[in-house]
Amino acid sequence: MSAPCRPHDARLAAHGAEDRFVSTEPNDLLAANRAWAGATEAREPGFFTRLARQQSPRYMWIGCADSRVPANELVSLLPGELFVHRNVANVVVHSDLNALSTVQFAVEHLKVAHIIVVGHYGCAGVRAAMRDLRVGLADNWLRHVQDVRLRHREQLDALPPERQEDVLCEMNVIEQAGNVARSTVLQDAWARGQKLAVHGWVYGLRDGLLKDLGVTMDGPQAVLEVPAAALRRCACAGAGQEPQ
Ligand code: ZN
Repeated sequence: MSAPCRPHDARLAAHGAEDRFVSTEPNDLLAANRAWAGATEAREPGFFTRLARQQSPRYMWIGCADSRVPANELVSLLPGELFVHRNVANVVVHSDLNALSTVQFAVEHLKVAHIIVVGHYGCAGVRAAMRDLRVGLADNWLRHVQDVRLRHREQLDALPPERQEDVLCEMNVIEQAGNVARSTVLQDAWARGQKLAVHGWVYGLRDGLLKDLGVTMDGPQAVLEVPAAALRRCACAGAGQEPQ
């Protein structure tokens, strides 16, 4: 059984790989969608009717809204295999009912086994927080990333200027993964004995590769120590030193 193709594949087939950066109109998207749906159903008859009955993804992805970081495509997962929440700079705060509701649904109803917070280098939100840029309403949202920067200002200031933004991208992922793990949703799930791990990854726009930041937490005992150790490691690596 061959895997159903993704919308991206269908669009490449429709337009040709060489002109995929040519801007399209909404009608082109609808045509690409029809091609994708037809090709997917032809390759795997019944794909959509089975998917319509239920979703049972093993993974939840919490990522940045940036258009260059499309969750399913980066990890070659099909519809139904990845539950996704995205916002500017992949932030998870304990007062954000939108993010927390998706985490709760993923944990309690879909029973995902892994929640992965994914940041990316070159993140405009992180850059704005790093450089104190005013971008508008989002300043209030990015305040959370600035809080990360302020908490680790000493380590960040000690880095070469060209490394500071990348390291803040990594620190932001680690802090947000910690926020997921400390949420009541995760704490309650672990107290019930549910098997569930939180991870932190960062994506490279220049090479298309995901990097594991070593902040995997699979129980309440990991929540305090693992993020702190990961933060130390990324500060040391940013400075070109061995972790202490
Ligand atoms: Zn971003």
